[in-house]
Amino acid sequence: EGDYEYQIKTGGSDELSELGREFNNLTQRLKNTEELRRRFVSDASHELKTPLASIRLLSDSIVNSDNMDGETMREFVTDIGNEAERLSRTTEKLLSLSKMDSGIGLSSDRLDLKHITEKTMHLLSPLAKEYHVNISTELERGCCILGSEDLVYRIIFNLAENGIKYNMPGGFVRIKLFRDSENVSLIVEDSGIGIPDEDLPHIFSRFYRVDKARSRDAGGSGLGLSIVYDAVRLHGGSVNVEKRESGGSRFVVIFPACPEEKPE
Ligand code: ADP
Repeated sequence: EGDYEYQIKTGGSDELSELGREFNNLTQRLKNTEELRRRFVSDASHELKTPLASIRLLSDSIVNSDNMDGETMREFVTDIGNEAERLSRTTEKLLSLSKMDSGIGLSSDRLDLKHITEKTMHLLSPLAKEYHVNISTELERGCCILGSEDLVYRIIFNLAENGIKYNMPGGFVRIKLFRDSENVSLIVEDSGIGIPDEDLPHIFSRFYRVDKARSRDAGGSGLGLSIVYDAVRLHGGSVNVEKRESGGSRFVVIFPACPEEKPE
C-alpha cells in the first residue's frame, strides 16, 4: 500500500526468514527510488520555476511602465529571450535523460569516435574562441564502439563544453582518444578552475552544481554530467573524474571497443 517503512521482523535462518529479508531489501529499494523520483521532480520544478519567474517579472515591468524608452525595452525583451532559451535547453536535457531512462531510441551502430570528436570540436570552436580557450586533440584511428551516435556526441560535447566554460582566458582543453584490444578511452582534460575535492563524489548527480552563479552565467543547468554518466553506462562503459596536478580537471571515459574489422 505504498508504506515503505514497513519491515518484517526476521530472526531465523530458514527459507521463510530469507524471504522476509528479501522483502525488507525490496521495500528499502522501492523507498530509495521513490525518494529519488520525488527529489528529481522537485529539483526539475525549481529549475523551470526560476526562469519563468524572471520572464514574468520582466514582462510585468514592460506592461506596467507607461513610457519605457526603446533601449530599456529591448534590453528587457533580450533578457526574456535568454531566459526562454535557458528553459528550452533545460527541457531538452530533461527529455534526453527521460529517454535514456526508458531506453527509447537507443541504437547499436558501429561508431568511429575520431570522426564524432572532430565534428563536435568543430561545433565547439566558436565557444572556445569566445572564452579564449585553446582546444587541441590527439585522436587515434580505429577507435570504434557500438552505440548511438547522438548519445556519444552528447558525451563528448558536454565534457568539452564544460572544459571550455569552467576555464580561464588563455587556458586549454585537450582531448585524447586511443584504444587497446578491449577498450576505447576518451580523455578530456582542461587547465580550468578545477573541482573541489568535496564536490567530486556528487558531480554526476542530476542538478548538482559546484558554483551555481558561475554555472547559471554560463547557461548551465547541472544536468550535463548526469547525461554523460547515463549515456556512458548505457554503452557499457565507465566515466571518472580526477584533479590534474597542475590545475584543472581530467575526465576519463572508457568504452568497450567493438572488434576491429578484419580485412577480407
Ligand atoms: P552545468 O550545466 O552546470 O555545467 P554539469 O552537470 O555539466 O552542469 O556540471 C555540473 C557542475 O560541475 C558544474 O556546474 C560545474 O560546477 C562543475 N564542473 C563540470 N565540469 C567542470 C570542469 N571541467 N571544470 C570545473 N568544474 C566543472
